[in-house]
Amino acid sequence: MARAAVSGRLTWRAATLTAARWETPTARTLVLDVPDWPGHLPGQHIDVRLTAPDGYRAQRSYSIASAWTGDGGTVELTVQRLDDGEVSPYLTDVVEVGEQVELRGPVGGWFVWRQTQTAPVLLIAGGSGVVPLMAMIRARGEARSRQPFRLIYSVRTPGDACYAEELARRVRDDPGLDVRFVYTRKTPDGWPDPPKRIDVATINTYGWPADFTPDCYVCGPTTFVETAADILVALGHDPKRVRTERFGGTS
Ligand SMILES: Cc1cc2nc3c(=O)[nH]c(=O)nc-3n(C[C@H](O)[C@H](O)[C@H](O)COP(=O)(O)OP(=O)(O)OC[C@H]3O[C@@H](n4cnc5c(N)ncnc54)[C@H](O)[C@@H]3O)c2cc1C
Repeated sequence: MARAAVSGRLTWRAATLTAARWETPTARTLVLDVPDWPGHLPGQHIDVRLTAPDGYRAQRSYSIASAWTGDGGTVELTVQRLDDGEVSPYLTDVVEVGEQVELRGPVGGWFVWRQTQTAPVLLIAGGSGVVPLMAMIRARGEARSRQPFRLIYSVRTPGDACYAEELARRVRDDPGLDVRFVYTRKTPDGWPDPPKRIDVATINTYGWPADFTPDCYVCGPTTFVETAADILVALGHDPKRVRTERFGGTS
């Protein structure tokens, strides 16, 4: 049984793009229909493989943005275009609805949130690192969980925030969810803080106190994740409760 589940996750499947939408001018959500999808936990990722006509292949990991609702094979990814990248510009600007990409997964068992966890949750995202954390927020919503969640979301400018409307709606409708943006280059008009990077004061003010023993999830570019995780530990959070996912590159 376990062997069948593992081999299922390692099997490449041809997924069909059924819809796509722009979250920002450079980040696109892909809605994929995946045959025989086994389901996933929020925080897991998949591997995407592209094959050129000459047989050249490139493979990258992408977090799953959607919550699994219990049946069906719909998987949403949100891909941030890196202009000099090999794979991401294809996924944001080239692949069209009706076309197929190969994927396998779901992958990962540590950077996941399970509904059975009872601690408050602190999510810290840098840029596209919000994707798996959004899956956790969506899964919490699907489960009608009352688990207190806080998201600290660092973006360059207001226009770079993915899921901005959905996050605003969820915060409005759900007293257990808080979202705090940090802008590194340009703030909205009237924003109380100047542009800045996430620092000790930000996490101390908008995160949960270490005494609450929250489960912390940090995701984004490698240097962002290392900085935020170091701050959490310096603020007294148990390193075993700080789960990190590094997307590569630098912030
Ligand atoms: C577990 C996991 C989950 C991921 N989930 C997502 C996701 O949900 N959405 C998403 O958009 N990306 C995600 N990524 C990053 C993704 O796998 C690719 O690294 C990214 O799309 C760049 O691929 P590329 O082929 O376009 O660029 P490449 O050709 O690989 O690299 C081009 C240039 O960009 C730099 N670079 C590579 N990756 C990054 C990065 N993440 N940030 C900044 N610079 C980078 C490289 O150093 C290089 O200079 C995830 C990575 C991991 C490991």
